[in-house]
Amino acid sequence: MTWETVIGLETHVELATKTKIFCSCTTAFGGEANTHCCPVCTGMPGTLPVLNESVLEFAVKAGLALNGDITRFCRFDRKNYFYPDLPKAYQISQLYLPIVRDGRVPIRTPSGLEKVIRIHELHMEEDAGKLVHDPWLDQTKCDYNRCGVPLIEIVTEPDFRSAEEVVAYLEKLRSTLQYLGVSDCKMQEGSLRCDVNLSVRPAGSEELGTRTEMKNLNSFKAISRSIAYETRRQIELIEEGKRVIQETRRWDDNKDATFAMRSKENAQDYRYFPEPDIPPLELSEEYLDHLRAGLPEMAEEKMTRYQADYGLPEYDTQMLTGQKALADFFESTVALGADPKQAANWIMGQVLGQLSARGLEAKDMKLSPRTLVHLIELVRTGKLNRNTAVKVFEAVFADDGDVDGYVKAHGLEQVSDPGAVAGAVEAAFAANPQSVADFHSGKEKAFGFLVGQVMRQLKGRADPKAVNEAVRKKLDEAKCGLDK
Ligand SMILES: [Zn+2]
Repeated sequence: MTWETVIGLETHVELATKTKIFCSCTTAFGGEANTHCCPVCTGMPGTLPVLNESVLEFAVKAGLALNGDITRFCRFDRKNYFYPDLPKAYQISQLYLPIVRDGRVPIRTPSGLEKVIRIHELHMEEDAGKLVHDPWLDQTKCDYNRCGVPLIEIVTEPDFRSAEEVVAYLEKLRSTLQYLGVSDCKMQEGSLRCDVNLSVRPAGSEELGTRTEMKNLNSFKAISRSIAYETRRQIELIEEGKRVIQETRRWDDNKDATFAMRSKENAQDYRYFPEPDIPPLELSEEYLDHLRAGLPEMAEEKMTRYQADYGLPEYDTQMLTGQKALADFFESTVALGADPKQAANWIMGQVLGQLSARGLEAKDMKLSPRTLVHLIELVRTGKLNRNTAVKVFEAVFADDGDVDGYVKAHGLEQVSDPGAVAGAVEAAFAANPQSVADFHSGKEKAFGFLVGQVMRQLKGRADPKAVNEAVRKKLDEAKCGLDK
């Protein structure tokens, strides 16, 4: 039988506000345990939460960018449960009137499939603290620094059919939220994490199978691998005549498998009720218009503009706008006078290459646009050849080092003196008479060999075009000598 995988996602995104959702504690990542806390976020009796206005603004902006309907009258609800990372024994969230409903996110997968993922809702809530288990001391330590950090949870309809679609959606979501400036979406710091709801059914069936939920996945790799594993596990169960149990499962990256955590709760298990400490919110049309007008230029708009203004191919514009910081970097290099296509080539080749080799995102890069512009200029004016420039780039990339200083210290200026090139050609011909003879007997390959020998003598610093010309000229002269 052919099976179809059905996936829905719940994505938690930490908002990039300076302070927490209901108090003025910092949201800064890290810090010594329990130093970013106050009586409000640690749930002391008698304290009262006050909504941070930026949280509302960021949530509405995200809702607008995801093409959702903004709930004009919305409020918070209490989700009651006890867990040591939640000192109040309830989480302030939204159940009945979430701030955004019915969004739409168009995606395109690497294999070219285009579809729209429907957003069921987006709601605001507070994050919980962190528990650190110490197996040696048989103790658990509670760190409440993350308690009360603002989150939005974005819930999709079960519209995904493969891990590839899920990753395409998450990349789109991450790019959108970064362009908006509402979150840094750093998966490694947990500011974007996913719960994957997955079920399988016979291909062509309309009915949904029993689903399981995998919690807190925080890398694209873990998401893809857990989807593959869980799909296989469910199909095998059904084919053996067993049934899938609705439950929450934990993905173990080291064991490459999911494990049952607990049976899945339903909304009624949480005894939700309207939050009595925070008044409902009424959003005016003027407020929404104001936020709508302030939305920045998004990736698609930049792509269209780069194609129109700089004549760049669609592929380039897609690469350049994949991360907001990269698009900003590109725009700065062009503003500083670099040729747009040259800048695009360097960014897509060298910059992305270095970022990926170092496991960095564009916004963490120290390299300045000015440094890249200078390198491009050195190549254009013939002071460095392209290969040497790439080496210099790699050397200065990490710390935005001094290009001229590096070139000077390593003697990398391009050899432009025709006498030096001629001398090297002379020497290469003298040392390799067989290759010269081979060339004249029709072996084109010998040409490349001779060019290589000349480049080697000049330590790779010569302009390849000039060397090519000099070798060609010398071969012609030698040919004339043979003819006579
Ligand atoms: Zn606080």
